[in-house]
Amino acid sequence: MRILDLTRELYNAALQERRDAWRKAGKSVTVYDQMRLLGEVKAARPEYQGVYAQVLQETLKRLDRAFQGFFSRVKRGEKAGYPRFRGRGWWDSFTFPQVWREGKWVGPGKPLGNGKIKIPGVGHVRIKQHRPLEGVPKTLTIKRSAGCWYAVYVCEVSFQPLPPSDKAVGIDLGLSHFVATSDGETFAPPKAYRKAEVKLARTQQALSRKKRGSNRYKKLKMRLARQHQKIANRRRDFHHKLARNLVNRYGTIVHEDLNTAGLARTRLSKSVQDAGWAQFLAILSAKAASAGRRVVAVPPHGTSQICPQCGRVQKKELSERIHACECGCVLDRDVAAAKVILALGLDGAFGGGG
Ligand SMILES: [Zn+2]
Repeated sequence: MRILDLTRELYNAALQERRDAWRKAGKSVTVYDQMRLLGEVKAARPEYQGVYAQVLQETLKRLDRAFQGFFSRVKRGEKAGYPRFRGRGWWDSFTFPQVWREGKWVGPGKPLGNGKIKIPGVGHVRIKQHRPLEGVPKTLTIKRSAGCWYAVYVCEVSFQPLPPSDKAVGIDLGLSHFVATSDGETFAPPKAYRKAEVKLARTQQALSRKKRGSNRYKKLKMRLARQHQKIANRRRDFHHKLARNLVNRYGTIVHEDLNTAGLARTRLSKSVQDAGWAQFLAILSAKAASAGRRVVAVPPHGTSQICPQCGRVQKKELSERIHACECGCVLDRDVAAAKVILALGLDGAFGGGG
């Protein structure tokens, strides 16, 4: 897209100017110096007149942030890479920095109600909205990824406490159910998501049979990237909805403090990464914080081996799906674990291993 090329060129030119000024004259150029010259750029290169002014300013600020990051890393004595020129493959977005002010849309991105949004310099663009916007939209970034275009809104979510609730729940994050709760509910990722995964695996296999670098290889590779993206979108969507669901119903949510990095080194690696627990927990914490609800993490050791009714410890193989204890307690294995997690979070009832 044209705006992508123009902003990338501007970024590179501004970087060149900063380098030259420093090398030749020992002078540093600020982002404000560079913004003042945008008029000259437009006079010399009329194609820049078609680009929204704030998008150009934001491009210069992006470079400025790259320099700020570089300087502060140097200051802290860390390894610091000097800001780089961006080639075609390393520039995939531009940003409208202000889309909303005092309760009104003042910039681009306003939904037109017919499934389209208006983007200056581009026109009316059809969008597929994955979630309603929450909070106040601040910026809009147009991003290209795996051959598709995305409109990403960054919103400021104000603190909107829900009415207090003394209901508490424990959640067990697992592989067979994504989440099992101490109230006996289980949540699995949507079917469409699993179907997409099967498709992905097939494409991956087909790709391995093509000759590297051939046209068919490239085409399949692009398809693979698109399928990956689609799955990531669906997964994030599922995480948001599930987190919203739990935060709305419970005042306290207890989960295991997962050492995902540790698990990822084991043979469970693929499924663990796919399950995306870390992403889900981050979303859950954010939603809980803005609703005034509590999320508690408890140490993960042995929660699946303890009986939630009597506290007895019994070893279970990973393949045993049912918890059945001598005391008469029979539960889905993950629901039993969720009950133990809840108890640990509330008062450490099983602290020390029961
Ligand atoms: Zn028991």
